[in-house]
Amino acid sequence: MVNDQQYVGGKTEKTGPVRTCLGCGKKAPKASLIRFAVVNGRIVVDEGYSLTGRGAYSCRQEICLRLLAKKGKRLARALRCEKPDPHHDMASLISTTIDSFVAK
Ligand SMILES: [Zn+2]
Repeated sequence: MVNDQQYVGGKTEKTGPVRTCLGCGKKAPKASLIRFAVVNGRIVVDEGYSLTGRGAYSCRQEICLRLLAKKGKRLARALRCEKPDPHHDMASLISTTIDSFVAK
């Protein structure tokens, strides 16, 4: 198994699993972050943290999600999304996510 820049996933400490926001790079408890996963080549929000496969995380903040949209390729790489759907609209995913998950 290649294990380059992976977090040591699943390690549980007192605060529970901690993940890194791909937008701002800060670490935060997994439960406070939005999880993204890949389904059929499309990046989706994994609301229940239940989708299998690799996940990527962002704070529930508009600024982080906007940064994430700019780093779309990085997000795809973090998710090992080798063949992203060419019609997938990252910008609209991010704006929908902001509307649904970020408190205004
Ligand atoms: Zn962040």
